Amino acid sequence: MGRAFVYVILGGGVSAGYAALDFVRRGVSHGELCIISDESVAPYERPALSKGYLLPEGAARLPSFHTCVGANEERLTPKWYKEHGVELVLGTGVKSADVKRKTLLTTTGETISYKFLIIATGARALKLEEFGVNGSDAENVCYLRDISDANRLVDAIQSSPGGNAVVIGGGYIGMECAASLVINKINVTMVFPEAHCMARLLTPKIANYYEEYYKLRGVKFIKGTVLSSFDFDSNGKVTDVTLRDGTKLSVDMVVVGIGIRPNTGLFEGQLTLEKGGIKVNGMFQSSNSSVYAIGDVAAFPVKAFGEKRRLEHVDSARKSAKHAVSSIMEPDKTGEFDYIPFFYSRVFTLSWQFYGDNAGEVVYYGDLSASGDTFGAYWVNKGHVVGAFLEGGTKEEYEAIAKTTKLRPAIEDLAELERQGLGFAVAVSQKPVASPPPIEVSASASGLLLQKPLYAWHATAGVVLAASIAAFAYFYGKRRRRW
Ligand code: FAD
Ligand code: NAD
Repeated sequence: MGRAFVYVILGGGVSAGYAALDFVRRGVSHGELCIISDESVAPYERPALSKGYLLPEGAARLPSFHTCVGANEERLTPKWYKEHGVELVLGTGVKSADVKRKTLLTTTGETISYKFLIIATGARALKLEEFGVNGSDAENVCYLRDISDANRLVDAIQSSPGGNAVVIGGGYIGMECAASLVINKINVTMVFPEAHCMARLLTPKIANYYEEYYKLRGVKFIKGTVLSSFDFDSNGKVTDVTLRDGTKLSVDMVVVGIGIRPNTGLFEGQLTLEKGGIKVNGMFQSSNSSVYAIGDVAAFPVKAFGEKRRLEHVDSARKSAKHAVSSIMEPDKTGEFDYIPFFYSRVFTLSWQFYGDNAGEVVYYGDLSASGDTFGAYWVNKGHVVGAFLEGGTKEEYEAIAKTTKLRPAIEDLAELERQGLGFAVAVSQKPVASPPPIEVSASASGLLLQKPLYAWHATAGVVLAASIAAFAYFYGKRRRRW
């Protein structure tokens, strides 16, 4: 049994949905495009699962958050795929791939062949067992990657009114789920090995703001230790959590968010891997010219950093999808992906955005006490702003930090940058760039093309800026929404 398609997207998550929309907009014919997903529902906006999906009242449910509503675009329901002749093969895993023969073998025994393959397999949640602790299968131990995990988490929340939860991990899942549990009136203790939460992105000072905010809402933090073991009742439910530092906590439920691994397994030995993902070029093409990779699984060149990165955030999933489709359908008109990383989160009534890279010296501004509601930071590396963080900004202010990060202004005086604070980014973003600055392109030792700034201009109050990037990219400030 077998079918053949021109384009096959392997995986049915965020990037698959955005790729499908762009394929259709570019005019694929009925029957040319197929999406294969082991999830039983059409692509949806995964970020909703740790936010609106967990609300005690008026929770978000499908079909309201199918892609591509997260970017204010069309909502692709199963009907949309049917109407546009896109074959949606749901509830079906791919168990092997042969990139030489251009075929995929599904768990139902079907062979699906392609002319172009887009790998959009995302990532899987790391399991406690991989750290030597058993108990992931207990019904009150919850992970959060897909909608079936989210339903299990909702069941656990509803079975634990007023109860106690331990959240293992101080990253994105830990922080967002802890907030949602508190909103559901569950007492939360967070446990993680680092000295502060969100250690991959936040500085201790910024992390402290969020920890203090959480503490005011009753969350307890146990840092510098990890889970050692669980105790179970006769039904196999976890009753107690023992930590490596000897602390024992009685629990009604446990949430685990200890990181992810990209789903590369089908392609190991067939495609070149890097940074734990599938290595692609600036067109999202892998080491096999018929195979592209997008989203969490792709390690792509970030021009501004002069190196490959694998990002685990929805904005890069969406934009990498669009770029890959353009690369496949209009290769001659598609340039190299030019992207500044963008991350965000929303917890309680807080909302932050981050652009760029968190490398170099950090310059803070605003009120970082737990009662403050707007503050931010710039990262200045080798004399240029390379990253910017803002909590509690307006749409215009977020756009300003986005533009500033893209322009990489030169900074001579960190104290002056601190004094100007958010005003610096606002001024940079309002400064008209009459014509794009000239760009000198030179080949770096690694063979990657780097752009060198050739001119300087003044923003405000004596801070000298040098713009190094030709054009403003498309940025948007996220509207506050419930999912
Ligand atoms: P995914 O969306 O994970 O999709 C991968 C798909 O491939 C899945 O459908 C999977 O089932 C399928 N698949 C994998 N292997 C196979 C196979 N062998 N056969 C068939 N199908 C397969 N990012 C942000 O920037 N902001 C946020 O607020 C945010 N919140 C998040 C909240 C949660 C709970 C989670 C889990 C992630 C969040 N993220 C957020 C990250 C963001 O959702 C991911 O970066 C994004 O989903 C990546 O898209 P993707 O298409 O690469 O992978
Ligand atoms: P993460 O990488 O953000 O955090 C993992 C955390 O696990 C670390 O901070 C650490 O505290 C903890 N940890 C690691 N080993 C541990 C151990 N042995 N015991 C206890 N804790 C341990 O990963 P995550 O929070 O699991 O998130 C999963 C994925 O979902 C990531 O790709 C993330 O980017 C994505 N996500 C993003 C957002 C967002 O962008 N707003 C929201 C939710 C999820």
